[in-house]
Amino acid sequence: MKIVVLVKEVPDTYEARKLDSSGMLARTASELVPDEINERALESALRYQDAHKGTEVVVLSMGPESTVKTLRKMLSMGADSAVLVEDSSLAGADLVRTSAVLAAAVQREGFDLIVAGNESTDGRGGLVPAMVAEHLGLPLLPSLDTLEITAESVSGSCAIDGGTLVVNAALPAVVSVTERSAEARFPNFKGIMKAKKKPLAKISLADLGLSPEPGARSTVTAAVERPVRAAGTKIVDEGQAAQELADFLAANRLI
Ligand SMILES: Cc1cc2nc3c(=O)[nH]c(=O)nc-3n(C[C@H](O)[C@H](O)[C@H](O)COP(=O)(O)OP(=O)(O)OC[C@H]3O[C@@H](n4cnc5c(N)ncnc54)[C@H](O)[C@@H]3O)c2cc1C
Repeated sequence: MKIVVLVKEVPDTYEARKLDSSGMLARTASELVPDEINERALESALRYQDAHKGTEVVVLSMGPESTVKTLRKMLSMGADSAVLVEDSSLAGADLVRTSAVLAAAVQREGFDLIVAGNESTDGRGGLVPAMVAEHLGLPLLPSLDTLEITAESVSGSCAIDGGTLVVNAALPAVVSVTERSAEARFPNFKGIMKAKKKPLAKISLADLGLSPEPGARSTVTAAVERPVRAAGTKIVDEGQAAQELADFLAANRLI
C-alpha cells in the first residue's frame, strides 16, 4: 500500500496573518508551519502504517523553497519520503493550476490512496482534493471525521446537517479529512534524527512534463483588511436596561 499525503505550508494560526499590497499572503509576516489539518491527514496514514508493515507513506507539497522545513517535520513524524514541487512560475498559483500540478505529481509518484485536508487554514478554497480526484478520474470521499483504510478500500464518516454519512470507495481513491479527524502525534527525538536522512526530492514543472504557464488564471483585483472591531455599546442598568436592550435589538432588526 502506498499512501500520498498532500501537505500545504501555511502561516501559524496563532499569529496574525497579513496580506501584501498585491493581495497575496505575506509569507514573511509570520512563522510558516505544516497545516494542522494536514498533520491529521498524515496521522491517519501513519496509523495504517503502524498496523501494516510495508506500507509506504509519502508527503507531497507544491510550494516555495521554505516548504522544505514543513516536509522535514512531516518526515520526523514518520513519513518515509517527501516530494516538493517547486517552480518560480507557480508563485500565486490558483486552485485550478495547483490541482493540475498536484495531480501530475501524484501520478508520477504512484499511489493507492491520496489523503488531503478538506481545506487549508489560509487559502480555504476547499476544492483541491475534489479537483485532483477529477483530474485522476478517481472517487473522492470528502470531509471525513473518521477514516478507515483496508487493503482494498477506504471508508469514513462525515457530518451533514442533521446526521452523519458513512461512505466507502474502492482503491485507488482520494479522501479529505477534517480538523475533527485523528489527533496528530508529536515527532520524537529519534524521529527528528531519522528525518535528516530520509529522501526529500525537489521536482520542477519540466520533471512533470508541464509547461511554465502563469500560475493563476483568476486574478485578485483588490484586497482589503478586515476593519478593526469597534467598541460595543455599554448599557448600565438603572431600571431602563431592558427597554434599551429591546430598542437596540429592534433597531438592528434582530427582533
Ligand atoms: C512558489 C509558490 C508560492 C506560493 N505562494 C502561496 C501563497 O502565498 N499563498 C497561498 O495560499 N498559496 C501559495 N502557494 C500554494 C498554492 O497557490 C495554493 O496551495 C493553492 O491555491 C490551493 O489553495 P487552497 O489553500 O485554498 O486549497 P484548499 O482546497 O483549501 O486545500 C485543501 C487541501 O488540499 C491540499 N493542498 C492545497 N494546496 C496544496 C499545496 N500547495 N501542496 C500540497 N497540497 C495542497 C492540502 O491537503 C489542503 O489541506 C504557492 C505555491 C508556490 C509553488
